[in-house]
Amino acid sequence: CGVFGIYAPGEDVAKLTYFGLYALQHRGQESAGIATFEGEQVHLHKDMGLVSQVFNETNLSELPGSIAVGHTRYSTTGSSRKVNAQPAVVDTRLGKLALAHNGNLVNVAQLREDLLQKNCNLVTTTDSEMIALAIAQEVNAGRDWLEGCIQAFGRCQGAFSLVIGTPTGVMGVRDPNGIRPLVIGTLESEPMRYVLASETCALDIIGAEFLRDVQPGELVWITEEGLASYHWYQHPQRKLCIFEMIYFARPDSIMRGESLYSYRMRLGRHLAEESPTEADIVIGVPDSGVPAAIGFSQASGIPYAEGLIKNRYVGRTFIQPTQSMRESGIRMKLNPLKDVLYGKRVVIVDDSIVRGTTSRKLVKTLREAGAIEVHMRISSPPVTHPCFYGIDTDTQDQLIAATKSVEEITKQLEVDSLAYLSWQGMLAATKEDPQSFCSACFTGDYPIPVPEPMKRTKLM
Ligand code: 5GP
Ligand code: SF4
Ligand code: MG
Repeated sequence: CGVFGIYAPGEDVAKLTYFGLYALQHRGQESAGIATFEGEQVHLHKDMGLVSQVFNETNLSELPGSIAVGHTRYSTTGSSRKVNAQPAVVDTRLGKLALAHNGNLVNVAQLREDLLQKNCNLVTTTDSEMIALAIAQEVNAGRDWLEGCIQAFGRCQGAFSLVIGTPTGVMGVRDPNGIRPLVIGTLESEPMRYVLASETCALDIIGAEFLRDVQPGELVWITEEGLASYHWYQHPQRKLCIFEMIYFARPDSIMRGESLYSYRMRLGRHLAEESPTEADIVIGVPDSGVPAAIGFSQASGIPYAEGLIKNRYVGRTFIQPTQSMRESGIRMKLNPLKDVLYGKRVVIVDDSIVRGTTSRKLVKTLREAGAIEVHMRISSPPVTHPCFYGIDTDTQDQLIAATKSVEEITKQLEVDSLAYLSWQGMLAATKEDPQSFCSACFTGDYPIPVPEPMKRTKLM
């Protein structure tokens, strides 16, 4: 999911949020929503669909206020339905709160019990709503916003990057492991205005300057007095999702000090060094495989070419909820360039193989277009474990590398050769401490313990 928040009296906060969400569209395409605060009063519009389908000039003009919170959703818990669209708005004794969540809680069962025992009415099925209700409970027990939120976050385990609007300010929060990203930006204005967003690309689009990341276990509270920071958790760890770096986030976003485009090019270079091959051209799978393909080309000296053209108006195949939708989506999306591919030995570079459905089809497409050899290179290691922290890599039995060796996958995809980047190579390319990332889907080493019943839902 993508989250966005802004505190900017005097500005058109709904429109700024709309642009921010537009830049975060890749993080979720099922539903979109914006809540604004005009003093005590909350205005909310959310619906199924893309940001551009959900909002127009008219409904944006019906969202006045000085504070806004926005969300783009792709479902990891809770079904793909309108009631599950965010922001979630909940009433408290201090007024309403609007919450937008990116991530996935692992203790939902326990939290649900907890809430029901305290007479909570659960309207939707999402973990995100439960966080909002937990905050409401704490506030209604007499705490202020800050203390109420901190108490509620203590009841949550898992991945949560949150943006929370209240009548007096907007809050940005990351879980103690900082699994999902969240950044702070500033608008050039007097007094200084702050913006929160999942990725820096959402700051760029509104002309905001990137200030810094919200830290794991940190809460920033933005009010008329400016920005205040609280470290709400005693022993935070840095466990940013490495999959954000490899695939999920936009290449023009900055994480860990550089654009992901640069990181992904470096992944391609490492890949060429680890697993060279002879070939005539290197192509990338648009869009996510392209930076690594360019890196591979640079390091190997094999010319880079465009061999597949993407229809820009088809969304990410992976994000659509069902396998059949996914498969028809894939056919619509990529078209081979016969004159580039015909008679060539081709290296095709992609960022990851999850189920193997895209890759298998692509190989077939390349051969039909006349490629005489197809060598597949993947700029991440085999995905062997499901994610419980908010990336929908599905159940373990759907992950091709969970049950098959590289040789078996080579056969199944019908490629002449196949190589994945090593885990060491992937982490070395970050230039950061390997311990400062979650890479559980490649190793099974989950930084936040996943309770057995939840684990069973995604294991074969
Ligand atoms: P597959 O061959 O496993 O069917 O698809 C791999 C492709 O799916 C890659 O191009 C990768 O960019 C893309 N992909 C799209 N969404 C996701 C996602 O959420 N997780 C992963 N791992 N890969 C995804
Ligand atoms: Fe990211 Fe994989 Fe960890 Fe999930 S398990 S948070 S996808 S690195
Ligand atoms: Mg891709």
